[in-house]
Parts: sequence; structure tokens; C-alpha cells
Amino acid sequence: MTSENICKVSEYEDSIFYKAHCNCMSPEHEHCLELSYENHGGENKEICLTLYSDLAYYDIYGCKWYHKFWKRIKIAFSLLIGGHPEIHDCFLFNGEKAVEDYIKALQEGLEKLKSIV
Ligand SMILES: [Zn+2]
Repeated sequence: MTSENICKVSEYEDSIFYKAHCNCMSPEHEHCLELSYENHGGENKEICLTLYSDLAYYDIYGCKWYHKFWKRIKIAFSLLIGGHPEIHDCFLFNGEKAVEDYIKALQEGLEKLKSIV
């Protein structure tokens, strides 16, 4: 399965990996989805969905350099003191097809994993 926003990157017997791209126009803004069948032994078996993404701070377009600099200092300080930066992330899918493709990818992977449960 391939679309503009999401594509399958690898598939194994018990897991499938997809990569989804955001419509915000930043080529680095993406996340990876892993659908996997986890067998923890005995009756403890389940299908899992894991999302992976890199935290990144994106400057607001049109923002003055000193505002960007100050925001970056605040984020670095929150990481230093609080242990985690406070970054709001918004992942965008524009259009019905992009949303449908995302859902189809999850359904496709789920159906494959259900067949081995
Ligand atoms: Zn984005």
C-alpha cells in the first residue's frame, strides 16, 4: 500500500511498519507505526500498535529571530530542569484521501495480524 501520506516500509511474519508524513510541509515531520503481534507466553497474547516519532521544535513562520531564540531557550530550560521539553506536536492529514489511507493502512495491518492470532 502506498499513498501520499503513509506507506508500508517493512513487513515481517508478526509485525508491519508504516511511515506517515505530516502535511505541514516539513519533510522531517513524520512518525513510524508498528503493528505487531506480541506473544508474552500462555494466554498472554495481543496485537499492539506503537507510534514512534522524534521530538522536534519547529519555528513559527514569520516569527522574529529573538522570539525564536527565546522560545528555544525556554524549551532547553524545561528539558534541563523538568526532564522533558514541553513541545506541542500537531500531525496533519489534509483531505479525505489522506485520512482514509491512514485508516486503511491500520486496517490492513490489523487484518494480517488477526490471521496469526
Ligand atoms: Zn507537521
